[in-house]
Amino acid sequence: MKLIFLGPPGAGKGTIATRLAEDEGIPHISTGDIFRENIRNQTELGKKVKAILDSGDLVPDELTVELVKDRVAQPDAAGGFILDGFPRTVPQADALADFAPVDKVLNFVLDEEEIVRRLSGRRVHKPSGRTYHVLFAPPKVEGKDDETGEDLIIRDDDQPEAIKNRLAVYEKQTAPLIEYYNSRGLLTDIDSAPAPDEVYKAVRTELGLA
Ligand code: AMP
Repeated sequence: MKLIFLGPPGAGKGTIATRLAEDEGIPHISTGDIFRENIRNQTELGKKVKAILDSGDLVPDELTVELVKDRVAQPDAAGGFILDGFPRTVPQADALADFAPVDKVLNFVLDEEEIVRRLSGRRVHKPSGRTYHVLFAPPKVEGKDDETGEDLIIRDDDQPEAIKNRLAVYEKQTAPLIEYYNSRGLLTDIDSAPAPDEVYKAVRTELGLA
């Protein structure tokens, strides 16, 4: 099962992908998570991409494509994988079609007002990467990590200006992939408005796993 999860930031792709990957025993490959981990660990890659992520712009295609190409070549991805946040541009999609063609593309659909509501409520415990949401998954104590009691922060790319930019980048660079995969007969829409359990059920049904 080689899948792409497509959709705007904040549509819940990561949450659903994490769960499906665990249940099906295939890797969840999130380029955003890989970049953020490199930033946390202050690697060369992390230093190169930090300002780009903070602003909400896209990391250059060549760099991102190489990263994913290496990752899907790992043995754990031989039986399938979920790509979350990749591809995000037509050149990335063209490259992927050469090195790892996928079986299906799920397009997570959510209106802009709800996207902004979801993104602006996200809180993160920076050292661990644990995430919370003020509305949907609040910490036990407001503003504090459940396990360490340390402060939670708002990711730079969840600040209002960056959110606006990420949505604009999505519309311009990534939304064309909807037509790209639709015309290849690979795309299915998934309504992301319901609660995660319901969205997850719809995804399993769509994949013939229910
Ligand atoms: P995400 O967590 O998927 O929203 O990704 C966070 C950030 O990582 C994005 O705003 C981009 O700066 C960068 N990023 C993630 N995936 C890609 C990609 N496929 N191409 C370029 N930049 C990416």
